[in-house]
Amino acid sequence: MQFKTLAEYYEKLEGTSKRLELIDILSKLFKESSAEEIGKICYLIQGRVAPFFEPIEIGMAESMVAQAIGRAYDKSKDEVLKLYRHKGNMGLAAQELAQKHKHHGELSVGEVSEALLKIAGFSGEGTVGKKVSALCELLKKLDPISAKHVANIPLGTLRLGIGDATVLDSLSLSKHGDKSLRPILEDAYNKTSDLGFVAETYFKKGIAGIKSIELIVGKPVRPALAERLPSADEAIKRLGNEFAAEPKFDGFRVAVHKNGEKVELFSRNLENTTHAFPDIVSGVRKAINAKSVILEGEAIAYNPDTSEFLPFQETTKRRRKYKIEEMAKKLPLVLFAFDLLYLNGRDITQKPYKERRKLLESIIARENPTIRISEERVLHKASEISDFFNEAISEGLEGLMLKKLDSPYIAGGRGFHWIKFKRSQAGQLTDSVDCVILGVYRGKGKRTEFGVGGLLVGIYDDKKDEFVTVSRIGTGLTDEEFRKVDELSKHLKIAHKPARVSSDIEPSFWVEPKVVLEIYADEITRSPIHTAGRDKDGLGYALRFPRLVKFREADKRAEDATTVSEVIKLYNQQFAHRNNKK
Ligand code: ATP
Repeated sequence: MQFKTLAEYYEKLEGTSKRLELIDILSKLFKESSAEEIGKICYLIQGRVAPFFEPIEIGMAESMVAQAIGRAYDKSKDEVLKLYRHKGNMGLAAQELAQKHKHHGELSVGEVSEALLKIAGFSGEGTVGKKVSALCELLKKLDPISAKHVANIPLGTLRLGIGDATVLDSLSLSKHGDKSLRPILEDAYNKTSDLGFVAETYFKKGIAGIKSIELIVGKPVRPALAERLPSADEAIKRLGNEFAAEPKFDGFRVAVHKNGEKVELFSRNLENTTHAFPDIVSGVRKAINAKSVILEGEAIAYNPDTSEFLPFQETTKRRRKYKIEEMAKKLPLVLFAFDLLYLNGRDITQKPYKERRKLLESIIARENPTIRISEERVLHKASEISDFFNEAISEGLEGLMLKKLDSPYIAGGRGFHWIKFKRSQAGQLTDSVDCVILGVYRGKGKRTEFGVGGLLVGIYDDKKDEFVTVSRIGTGLTDEEFRKVDELSKHLKIAHKPARVSSDIEPSFWVEPKVVLEIYADEITRSPIHTAGRDKDGLGYALRFPRLVKFREADKRAEDATTVSEVIKLYNQQFAHRNNKK
């Protein structure tokens, strides 16, 4: 396919504010794509040249892109930057300047993808110059509409708002005529997190090829997640009278992929974080006795002198991107391994939890200070749950995870095979809600200083692949937090409501749904204003007295926010909880 054709699709995708139209346009695009290029197209429509977990970044700042545009169209960098400020988007600036040149755009999708990959690959001395020249040469071979979109890719500002589920629906529609294959495609995606790979396999080997996809070391697995229940008795009804219980560590999830000496780490939101945690990487090399492995654990900062777990605020300091070695010494992490998914060339996710746990125990060396196995107790009664829960809380941990002994590992799903019990404050909900910032209200009065005065936040409707509103937050943020939101939202501001946002409320400006906040609220109430879970009577759900607990932008993607069905469950559990307390 000519890149020019893809760019025309970009235009159509950009112009729609309805998700169903996105699917329609995408499925037409996929119908025109060959098996050789479908993978690349899946990355390019999300503004990338590789799956998002690969640390391949084009890595160009605004001034570098402006320089490349200037050189391609005989303008100075400053002239380009001026036009960019006027237009508010670098792509629009490139498009306007490209109009006056006679470039026809005969490059194929593959050639553009290759050129962008080459730019991403430059490193070492003279990188800036090489990147600028290569982008300039690429722009010279593109027509104005292609130039517009290509100029936005290095800056991460190609905002088509296409979610993974939308791509999967469209793949099914394009080849199968309807969306019914989405669950099978999604299953393969959950195992590999690689849309391009799934699409290419589907185009080359059909649905039989998709069904035979297994875990692959180096491709992150979308994590299994826990359900919530209001009481220990309820949990026992689900788990039976024999189940495992482990402390719930309040750190961050780490997936370890080891193949021989090669070790890679992935975060909860599937980013490659290998470079950030050299202590865990070397711990894995020493402590894991197996040739190839995918395992999961929770990393938490730990004081070896006093044997105490440090609070989340301390642990999270390890996620900063600077002074990595120094921080590794100052704040050592312990990785508490809690599940094994792959061992010596075999995907073992279908084995029951108790067998996976035994295998996990058999490959972790005892006495390693960094890699340990999470404590596990096999319990039978509600009273044992509350004893262990209180013990965990008194050690400064977050609560308990209860696990079904005979359950497989269910990638990418929340289910009752795992049940979480978290510390909660009296009168509050039994869990916090992870919301996505959808819009921003400008600050008034004292808040003008921060730019941001309040936020419109939403949750994720996973059935519709949409973000729906659940609350406005105006208080409960510290000055520092307001400043942080201001900084983040500046980069994410968009001119119109994104296609996948459903809202009756109009904030001062919309932002790309990206930043996840963990929110505690007093209560969930029914609301005619918000679109979250709206029923035929026009009533949705809303958070009452919301306040910020922490930013989760480092470890949750927007689609990992709390879902509508979870909020409805939390709403119903409030009553069970209150009745239990009576
Ligand atoms: P939370 O907001 O509570 O961290 P989450 O949405 O990230 O939740 P949940 O399914 O609600 O995910 O809870 C599971 C999380 O708890 C895991 O992602 C993991 O990071 C953490 N965790 C801590 N200890 C354990 C454990 N022993 N077993 C499994 N997960 C654990």
